[in-house]
Amino acid sequence: MVLADLGSRLRGALSSVESGDEKEIQNMVKDICSALLETDVNIKLVARLRDNIKEKIKTQINDNEGGSNKRKKLQKIVFDELCGLVDSHEEPPKPKKLSHKQQTTRGAKGGAKATKVTSDSHIIMLVGLQGAGKTTSATKLALYYKKRGFKIGLVCADTFRAGAFDQLKQNAIKSGIPYYGSYVETDPVKVAHDGVQKFKQEKFDIIIVDTSGRHKQEQSLFNEMIQISKMIQPTQTIMVMDGSIGQAAESQAKAFKESSDFGSIILTKMDGHAKGGGAISAVAATRTPIVFIGTGEHVGDLEVFKPSSFVSKLLGIGDIQSLIEHVQSLNLQDDESHKKTMENFKEGKFTLRDFQTQMNNFMKMGPLTNIASMIPGMSNIMSQVGEEETSSKIKNMIYIMDSMTTKELDSDGRIFIDEPERIVRVARGAGCAVVEVEMVLQQQRLMSSMAASAKTMNAGQGPQAGGM
Ligand code: GDP
Repeated sequence: MVLADLGSRLRGALSSVESGDEKEIQNMVKDICSALLETDVNIKLVARLRDNIKEKIKTQINDNEGGSNKRKKLQKIVFDELCGLVDSHEEPPKPKKLSHKQQTTRGAKGGAKATKVTSDSHIIMLVGLQGAGKTTSATKLALYYKKRGFKIGLVCADTFRAGAFDQLKQNAIKSGIPYYGSYVETDPVKVAHDGVQKFKQEKFDIIIVDTSGRHKQEQSLFNEMIQISKMIQPTQTIMVMDGSIGQAAESQAKAFKESSDFGSIILTKMDGHAKGGGAISAVAATRTPIVFIGTGEHVGDLEVFKPSSFVSKLLGIGDIQSLIEHVQSLNLQDDESHKKTMENFKEGKFTLRDFQTQMNNFMKMGPLTNIASMIPGMSNIMSQVGEEETSSKIKNMIYIMDSMTTKELDSDGRIFIDEPERIVRVARGAGCAVVEVEMVLQQQRLMSSMAASAKTMNAGQGPQAGGM
């Protein structure tokens, strides 16, 4: 079963609970467990998750509670347990800009005297088997950090696979990223060393070193990883793992852990037909955080991995926080409407104008199907249609909001409940059906309630599976 199906199975299991009687709850737990097993999650992990859910139900849910209350609590329990499954509780190291690490020493009269760089470049070494997606992920990662203002260079230390350097070079040129590699040098340790030295001297913030893979987990590969690692002393070693390999992921991750002691994981190919469960089990077995997931072959198809966002999306409840962070990466700090949205969000508000701003912003970002899954209530629709239809649906939503008056846009949406004739007017203006305007209003309400729960969360009242 692929991940998209896992999401709909989990949603189905949760929504099958009506009265919340024991039989319904038992069936729900059973359905959740078999869905996870069919996605290749390790059986021991599933058993532990089942026991935890049962235990929490016993201690947190009162038999006399009403069905809707029970449902909410059940959803929260399942949400938390699924987060626990993919959360390693480890924080990977975060790169910093070298210019931010500069220390200014003060002269006798307090004036700035000299600027000294106190820190080194953040070196990321990528390891993993051939075909896992290392070279692709190297450029994706470089572009991700470049967009955030980091000075970043790529080093191809894969001298094993013919064409590896050309592949990295082409990707790097397309994305405007400096690169280093050699057509003649056959020693990967030397290439890695020379590339890292070159970019270090040029004061690059981040240096990404792509290493070679093999078809199999061979000792020669592991020896090579150890030697490169000793030579370049990476700040962070990331294992790139194919998310679709199923149960084999666990032994692969363990073998790499022993040789290269990676501290973070990128799961690739989580789009389309990935089962994902095997890789998730591998993460649990090595207690290593997934930092990113690859969601396509395009250079922009990389998402920051956050357990709660991942589970939110899986359960189709949207993830407004990721949506906003995603938009932030556009470097819109100077954009007035974006600033206003951020202020509103911090206050737990989300107006129709905020919704309009966000929609307009992420039309610039693509791929839309990924982004749509962050909007509550849209993931179900979007999983059934393609990129083109997603794009036209989003454009439609923008036309609808463009047809609203200033007063309506700046409102929390209640104005449409009090004066429903406004809905008819907007529909006419946008050239769409009334029900489509109602859908936009419903989504904005969901996002607004999520903004409110995010504010509560930030105020330290614990996580909430808001919007379910
Ligand atoms: P390497 O041998 O580990 O460097 O793997 P490559 O980067 O060459 O990738 C192997 C294949 O996987 C290529 O065809 C990539 O386009 C593809 N690939 C990599 N990441 C993803 C991903 O996230 N999704 C999809 N669908 N394909 C990917």
